[in-house]
Amino acid sequence: MKNHPSAPRTATSPLQLPHVIAVDGPSASGKGTLSRRLARELHYTYVDTGAMYRSLAWWALENGLRCEKPMALADEEAVVKLMRKWKADMRLIDGMAWMHVNGYFPGTEIRTDRVEKAVPVVAQIEKVRDYMVNAQRDCVRFGPLVMEGRDIGTEVFPLAPVKFFLEADEKERAKRLSDRGNVTADGATRDAMDVNRRKGALVPALDAIRIDNTHQTPDETFAVLLQHVKNRLTPA
Ligand code: C5P
Repeated sequence: MKNHPSAPRTATSPLQLPHVIAVDGPSASGKGTLSRRLARELHYTYVDTGAMYRSLAWWALENGLRCEKPMALADEEAVVKLMRKWKADMRLIDGMAWMHVNGYFPGTEIRTDRVEKAVPVVAQIEKVRDYMVNAQRDCVRFGPLVMEGRDIGTEVFPLAPVKFFLEADEKERAKRLSDRGNVTADGATRDAMDVNRRKGALVPALDAIRIDNTHQTPDETFAVLLQHVKNRLTPA
């Protein structure tokens, strides 16, 4: 049977993939601020996937689980078992989708030093990644998305029509973390673990637009991002 010839293929057709703008990159590469701003500008839902992994790391620590390297198989299994039982769902707050645990959004707790250390360890567990990737894909129910993370353009939405990979040199990123008052955050260690894991590694998608913003102001980078989005998403 032939396809229906009259199926409209416009930018808003429900038959098309939902619009997802994938923004990946290492810590302090500007992903967070720029993705939020882009989502606001476009009226898309913003999803911070790092916050999802942080919520699980927080919940694991709250439940007394060990989340340090090296993780024994039994430690990993304990995290996975907890994750299978937890009551977590994505809820919208102000145009942003955040993971809630038992109806609670641990917005402050997930930014603490102990979670900062535990999160890349928890994020290396393959069953955790499978679970999170599914939850992230499920966010299309919120409509068009700006989703930031490490593996959005490679694993979560490999067909996303717009993919960015933000970069900045290591010294500059360390300075940004300390300017934020985040003196305990060891971005380099976290990034190294993210780059070297087997599944969902931090690596640019082949078709990602790579932007090094070491010498750019946030406004300058934002203008570049917006221009790319307009070029890609405007029907010819
Ligand atoms: O983005 P953020 O710094 O909050 O991410 C915290 C950590 O969560 C990362 O260092 C990484 O270990 C993990 N993460 C991930 N995949 C993503 C987003 C975050 O593994 N898509």
